[in-house]
Amino acid sequence: MTYPINGSCQCGGVRYTLKAAPLAVIACHCKACQKLSTSAFSITAVVNSEDVEFEGEMAEWSRLADSGNTNAARFCPTCGNRIYHYNPAEPGKIKLKPASLDDTSILRPTAHIWLSQKQAWFEVPEGVATHDGQP
Ligand SMILES: [Zn+2]
Ligand SMILES: [Zn+2]
Repeated sequence: MTYPINGSCQCGGVRYTLKAAPLAVIACHCKACQKLSTSAFSITAVVNSEDVEFEGEMAEWSRLADSGNTNAARFCPTCGNRIYHYNPAEPGKIKLKPASLDDTSILRPTAHIWLSQKQAWFEVPEGVATHDGQP
């Protein structure tokens, strides 16, 4: 896989460039991620903030996670596509919502988390790390 890889929201108002491989690719099965992704789980790429460049205006919303950390989210104000999450207390890393990359073949999760809330029909692939909740 060669970098950079470009990405954009559904309407194209927000564009970004991922310049290096993610530190981790994680599938989260928690209820909040099911609601966010309108699917059985969400995929998150943890990346160094300096490895991604954004273009275009984003809106922000945040909530207090069960862990006590603030989970801030940036999204396109026009089409609503979620772009990334971050913890304001840890600005060096962001959690990219990478299904908006032009090439999503890098998105092979190496860990599946919050399996306690997963859909019963989903079978976790072999050879990945698994956690019932937040690791
Ligand atoms: Zn958009
Ligand atoms: Zn989740």
